[in-house]
Amino acid sequence: MRMTVLASGSKGNATVIAAGSTRILVDAGMSCRELMKRMAQVGEDPEELDAILITHEHLDHVAGLSVLARRLKIPVFFTESTHRAWVRMLTPRTTMSYARWLETVQREKEARTEQSAAAAVLVETDSLATDDPLETEAAEPEAGMDAACLDVAAPKVKADPAFLPAVEYFRAGHGFSIGEIDVNPFTIPHDAADPCGFVFHARSESIRMAVATDLGYVPPNVKMALRGVDVLLLESNHDLEMLKDGPYPWSVKQRVLSRVGHLSNAACAEFLLRDYDGSAHTIVLGHLSEQNNLPELARLAAEQAIGGRMTLLGNRVILAAQDSPLEPICL
Ligand SMILES: [Zn+2]
Ligand SMILES: [Zn+2]
Repeated sequence: MRMTVLASGSKGNATVIAAGSTRILVDAGMSCRELMKRMAQVGEDPEELDAILITHEHLDHVAGLSVLARRLKIPVFFTESTHRAWVRMLTPRTTMSYARWLETVQREKEARTEQSAAAAVLVETDSLATDDPLETEAAEPEAGMDAACLDVAAPKVKADPAFLPAVEYFRAGHGFSIGEIDVNPFTIPHDAADPCGFVFHARSESIRMAVATDLGYVPPNVKMALRGVDVLLLESNHDLEMLKDGPYPWSVKQRVLSRVGHLSNAACAEFLLRDYDGSAHTIVLGHLSEQNNLPELARLAAEQAIGGRMTLLGNRVILAAQDSPLEPICL
């Protein structure tokens, strides 16, 4: 089994999980071109990806999603709430409800017929109204509005920024399989619609790898989920002092520090010290803030926490980067 972190941080996240002949991309938070470039750098063939799995809808996790999925023609796995939020994000001007939007997409093929029918009705109305100039005048704005809607709708349907080759829904707490990999999604506390972390289990090899970034703190369900993992990608986002003294506006500092923000070096270390069972061969620290953290500080905090526990001797800590992919971690 193999974990390859292509990028990690607030400018983009993506990780490949591979086992047997199955390849899953977790998040697609960089441009399609950049994702493909980084996969080539580490010897992963994009054409071999079986699916894309999304943790949450923040841009640093979905920036290249639609283009990549369409290009590779592979399914995208979301929770329904995350998919809904992503669609809303891509179509911010729409006032349609999600249900209405789904209906609209399903009726896309019927749209032209309906429009023709509507046009025919308008012609009839006009012809009936010609006797009365007031009604004719009243009919004109309506005809104008319809024309405007058609103009707006046509390119929107044509482009459909939220179109994906296939969408699959999962729910936190309910495991499912993609090829040879069992996926166990768990809820994480973060300010997104329905954010999840994942534990991946290669059945044939009895190896488990986990991805847990973008979480404000480590709640009991996450502690439970991360037991017995062999490779753990865990957030170590910021140094508390650097964040407090740093350039972010107060509101952003509050958001990062909150229980639905990001995990500090100290909180990451606290988990490693008190709750982590020590079973991981490799701990990857990820989603490091470029403004409010230093790799040395993140590493020091984690290593001190692990170093304090005899059972954890032999584990290694590595740091995921924003600018370049990590060497594949193979077990
Ligand atoms: Zn993020
Ligand atoms: Zn996020």
